[in-house]
Amino acid sequence: MNADLHCHSTVSDGTLEPEALAARAKANGVELWALTDHDELGGQQRARAAARAAGLPYLNGVEISVTFLDTTVHIVGLGIDSDDERLRQGLAATRGGREARAREMADELAKVGITGSYEGALRYVGNPDLISRTHFARHLVESGVCADTQEVFRRFLVEGKPGFVPHRWATLANAVTWIGAAGGVAIVAHPARYKFSPTEEYALFSEFKGHGGRGVEVVTGSHTAAEAERYAGTAREFDLLASRGSDFHSPDESRIDLGGLPPLPATLTPVWDALTERIHKPG
Ligand code: AMP
Ligand code: MN
Ligand code: MN
Ligand code: MN
Repeated sequence: MNADLHCHSTVSDGTLEPEALAARAKANGVELWALTDHDELGGQQRARAAARAAGLPYLNGVEISVTFLDTTVHIVGLGIDSDDERLRQGLAATRGGREARAREMADELAKVGITGSYEGALRYVGNPDLISRTHFARHLVESGVCADTQEVFRRFLVEGKPGFVPHRWATLANAVTWIGAAGGVAIVAHPARYKFSPTEEYALFSEFKGHGGRGVEVVTGSHTAAEAERYAGTAREFDLLASRGSDFHSPDESRIDLGGLPPLPATLTPVWDALTERIHKPG
């Protein structure tokens, strides 16, 4: 099945509205879709309605920012109740502090001669509650500091580079329990991105499971074929459901389009097998 269970709209740091994403997913042959904005459920109703209009089965989704071993880890929640009060409050708390962090990021960039980046980034923000590094990256490209957003994330905004401001997000325990209590399945997003040592990575997956986490993204826009194979092994080792999602943000920036990923390895159990009751079917 061509499931695409990870992408972003203007409600977080994507450049397309939820309606445009639904149409694009349908046109690209997606058969099960989820919008997973960062720390925010504000796009869920729109995505669900647009998916229904397009005849596209839909799962509610979210991508929660977590701090684990001083590293930012992303936990995707699928099949959640998007009105769940505890999840909504947890996400609101997780979003808080983005504004102050963004102002600090701009102060740090000013120290290396890049002025006005807070105001610049704000011009790309669709949701004032959710200013992110991606919006700074777009501004740095548009103003000619970098050629593309990949260059921004090599030269700026990451640990050890100008404009990086460490931040405390939700705890792993909180994110996983919020998702589970809202009826969803918690999934470790794009694990190859974190650069953990084998011991740290083992700690991540064992603690994640201990808190009730159930899945891992195996095939994602952030993984090479070798990384997908490696995390297929992790899914087997930890008895986790396998997820698949492009992490599409923008037609101009994303390497993998909605629906454009290779299939999951056939030996794994897809996460949607555990979510059949949570799928919003059109018609
Ligand atoms: P934030 O939540 O403000 O820390 O921003 C994180 C977002 O920055 C991610 O969700 C990605 O959209 C983007 N990002 C992080 N690292 C990279 C990278 N190496 N290349 C492109 N985008 C990145
Ligand atoms: Mn993002
Ligand atoms: Mn992510
Ligand atoms: Mn993402």
